[in-house]
Amino acid sequence: MKSARKIVLIGTGSVGASFAFAALNQDICDELVMIDLNTAKVAADAADMQDGLANFTAKVNVWHGDYSDCHDADIVVICAGIAQKPGQTRLELIQTNVKIASAITKDVVASGFDGIFLVASNPVDIISYAVWKTSDFAKERVIGSGTALDTARLRYQLSQLFNISARAINACVFGEHGDSEFVAWSIAKVAGVPLIDLLEDRQLNQEELEALYEKTRDAAYKIIEAKGATYYGVAMALTRICKAIFGDENELLMLSTLLQGEYGHEDVYISVPCILGRQGIRQVLTPELSAEEADKLAYSVKVLRENNPLIQEAK
Ligand code: NAD
Repeated sequence: MKSARKIVLIGTGSVGASFAFAALNQDICDELVMIDLNTAKVAADAADMQDGLANFTAKVNVWHGDYSDCHDADIVVICAGIAQKPGQTRLELIQTNVKIASAITKDVVASGFDGIFLVASNPVDIISYAVWKTSDFAKERVIGSGTALDTARLRYQLSQLFNISARAINACVFGEHGDSEFVAWSIAKVAGVPLIDLLEDRQLNQEELEALYEKTRDAAYKIIEAKGATYYGVAMALTRICKAIFGDENELLMLSTLLQGEYGHEDVYISVPCILGRQGIRQVLTPELSAEEADKLAYSVKVLRENNPLIQEAK
């Protein structure tokens, strides 16, 4: 009988290796298998992490493997592909990363894998759509990390501003994980108080909110400019998502999922609030947005559909 929590990670570059390290240290799985085209690097990463296991209390196995290891995995995490270069948008990675992700998905499905796909490769909404289409899995079991990272960035900034735990901040980044994303300020709360009430009380002003949004949206550009890539933040978001799945937490997270009529949109992977548990996305929530926010969501949907080669080819 299988009881181990098993993750197969595909793509062990900066993001994948950081996720592997975070996943091990947060004790979220019992088995972690790593696959990468660069077999020398992935073997060395596995050996390096095995060197840490004697200093770790939990029993966990980590090794570098191949696609046959996916057949009994619970979660396959896809971090393979090319990453943004300084000044490049996520959308500029589309053609290459769709091809890579589709090929990987075919190999994973051919192994007999019957678990949950978690996608991080960018542009994550379009790559998640490609994995969903190629795998023919139920949409609940193909999840994009979406704006989980952006939402964590925003909550951290608000927590600093109000000097309060990020756990007391309910604020979400909706839409594309990219330039058309937006903050749904109309439903944001700080310690239970609607953020718009704080605006009325003049504890915050509209310019400060706009600056927070821009800092969140452009965070990756700044980090990539300085050190070439972003990886720790997304690694911790991926770890949080896997933990919610294994723990059957029914946690509320901003994730990229297929819309099927929610907010009047369909056939697009995009971030909205999702309830996540052991079977994947159990429910998509649709809190009421302001008219301006609904327009922003519609624009983000348009950007993602127009840039999705699989949707454009099918027309
Ligand atoms: P990287 O170049 O460091 O690593 C990519 C890895 O993918 C390499 O090790 C490469 O060998 C491997 N790879 C490529 N094709 C493969 C294939 N067919 N099979 C197996 N492995 C393959 O890049 P990175 O910085 O780790 O970024 C990885 C992806 O994650 C990029 O698309 C990046 O834009 C994305 N990313 C997403 C988020 C997010 O929030 N979703 C945040 C940061 C980066």
